[in-house]
Amino acid sequence: EAIKQNDEPEKMPPPSTVRGRRKPVAPVELNKGNKRLSCLIKPPDMQTKRGKFLEGSRPNQKFFEMIQDFRATLEITPLSTTETIEPQRICVCVRKRPFNKQEINKKEIDVVSVPGKGALLVHEPKHKVDLTKYLDNQVFHFDYSFDDTATNELVYKFTAKPLVQSIFEGGMATCFAYGQTGSGKTHTMGGDFTGKQQNSAKGIYALAAQDVFAYLHHRRYANLDLSAYVSFFEIYNGKVYDLLHKKAKLRVLEDERQQVQVVGLEEVYVTSAEEVIKMIQIGSSCRTSGQTSANANSSRSHAILQIVLRRNDRATTLHGKFSLVDLAGNEHGTDASSNDRSTLVETAKINRSLLALKECIRSLGKNSDHIPFRMSTLTKVLRDSFIGEKSRTCMIAMVSPGMTSCKYTMNTLRYADRVKELNGNSKASE
Ligand code: ADP
Ligand code: MG
Repeated sequence: EAIKQNDEPEKMPPPSTVRGRRKPVAPVELNKGNKRLSCLIKPPDMQTKRGKFLEGSRPNQKFFEMIQDFRATLEITPLSTTETIEPQRICVCVRKRPFNKQEINKKEIDVVSVPGKGALLVHEPKHKVDLTKYLDNQVFHFDYSFDDTATNELVYKFTAKPLVQSIFEGGMATCFAYGQTGSGKTHTMGGDFTGKQQNSAKGIYALAAQDVFAYLHHRRYANLDLSAYVSFFEIYNGKVYDLLHKKAKLRVLEDERQQVQVVGLEEVYVTSAEEVIKMIQIGSSCRTSGQTSANANSSRSHAILQIVLRRNDRATTLHGKFSLVDLAGNEHGTDASSNDRSTLVETAKINRSLLALKECIRSLGKNSDHIPFRMSTLTKVLRDSFIGEKSRTCMIAMVSPGMTSCKYTMNTLRYADRVKELNGNSKASE
């Protein structure tokens, strides 16, 4: 089967396509806007030995080889941990998760390459009308791109960590994990899972909490006389549920000054990262347990952990707030297959909230007065994070490596790209 495929006649590739094994190819200049990434061709002897991949045939062997060949031409620049991190108002990153055991067993094909410097490529397998196979290689640029070897600590260092300081300076910060179900959102935010056990100490929630307490005791901020509080809630189908209070259903109210409040939301006073981790564990198990409705799984809800700084005055005035959000899976938008009405309504709600979120972040980037926060519950409860000079946000787009996720991966990357656009070149908004 594999041999037959290899004997296919070679056709002229379309311009965005690189095929063929040893053909001399000019350095591929991948560019978008003013950011450039040159991928230099390595000499043939440095190319991966292909024999070792021929053991056992796999479905789509030909595509696999084409991707291997393309990869051999990429120059990889690993992320340096000593790199200085420029604090930005809006930061958009992408993280590729590693294959899991089942995917390796199924010989899934890895279609995502992360050469570094914020770049990420998707090698989308396609067929021409005459059925010849080709790769549609698409490149995306973000502030940072993390490959499948990156740890949560590394991702944290470049994403949420720079935001912690901003809440001590009286700012509002948000960090979002965006992507399809199974792409690693909860792993990144909540921590490592081994079996059914969650190691919450290694997620961005906990790493952020650790730094909050480090700053709280730092002499630079000690005179502010602040205390930290934690709340943890879920938005499911437009309704808010308190994860620290047995999923009590809460109301969202907006007063005449457009201040939005989640009435009765539990805010737990915390004095150490360990206490926050405990809250994360309570909330996470609450999130995934006791779900009776077939559709009510965590992939359909947004989970929001808030670390709130308040002054120790009589009114416990709000000083700063960090909202860390594990968003609902974005695949539902493309899933119109269901004819169950309640599922369709849920899907519409998720789409609307993710669309609203994108628009709100874009308004933040443009310093616009008009924030379309009323479009969804998610953006309503985060309203104060999209306004003001001191608001900062970071989005981590998660992608699965496999060929079967290709469509979803492309959706995720396009969304993240739209959030970021306003950062650099000022394209007209659509
Ligand atoms: P999501 O929350 O986006 O649906 P999960 O975080 O639950 O996805 O991840 C799906 C599976 O992949 C989990 O078993 C998780 O442990 C694993 N996983 C995700 N990201 C990584 C990673 N970076 N390293 C190792 N395993 C990961
Ligand atoms: Mg999840």
